[in-house]
Amino acid sequence: MGFVVAVDGTAGSGKGSITKIVAERLNLKTIDTGAMYRCVTLAMLEQNVKLEETEKIMEILKNIKIEFVDEDKEKKVKLNGRDVTLKIRSKEVNEFVSPVSTVRVVREYLANMQREMAKSIDVIMEGRDIGTNVFPNADVKIYLDATVEERAKRRFRQNKENGIDIPFEEILKNVKERDYIDSHREIAPLTKAPDAVYIDSTGMTIEEEAEEVIKIINEKRK
Ligand code: C5P
Repeated sequence: MGFVVAVDGTAGSGKGSITKIVAERLNLKTIDTGAMYRCVTLAMLEQNVKLEETEKIMEILKNIKIEFVDEDKEKKVKLNGRDVTLKIRSKEVNEFVSPVSTVRVVREYLANMQREMAKSIDVIMEGRDIGTNVFPNADVKIYLDATVEERAKRRFRQNKENGIDIPFEEILKNVKERDYIDSHREIAPLTKAPDAVYIDSTGMTIEEEAEEVIKIINEKRK
């Protein structure tokens, strides 16, 4: 296994933006595990598969191909060859992704896929259970957080930049709901690993947050 940086934290805590900057500067491959849960969710919505339909979910998982590709200087997410970068950020996916992420077969399948993806390369992997469950022996563990209002504001701004139009109040509600489900589920709930470094990014810029993370990684990498 290569060098693994695990970045976990609440919804909208800056995991995605920070991971991208840190990866570029330290030459690590990024793996956005939230996007993977979102891809499974999108497939289930499109095929009208319910949470309790385990067989059908397994069928989706068996045939799923999730890729992160650099295209036109942008990071794209592909689901079975189709560009779903924006689709996986839709309101429907936002609302269904946390319930889908409580399903045992989904978690087990994706966690194995994530371990496989990180084999023999240096990665920075972001999600909810990376330092606690996927890579309990990760070289560096970071836990990011910020107040819920600040996180919802960031998501709102991010959506606007991507042309996704969801009202602020709805985003705030969704962020709260997802945090609740993610941290109260039975399997691999969102929690800070005892050996993770906690960063509260309220009031910090992305750049400041990224620098803090780089400092922590460099110290461990020595
Ligand atoms: O990171 P993002 O907000 O895109 O993640 C979407 C959802 O995917 C989370 O709210 C959570 O329910 C689920 N997730 C998870 N475990 C991970 C990453 C994401 O359960 N490692």
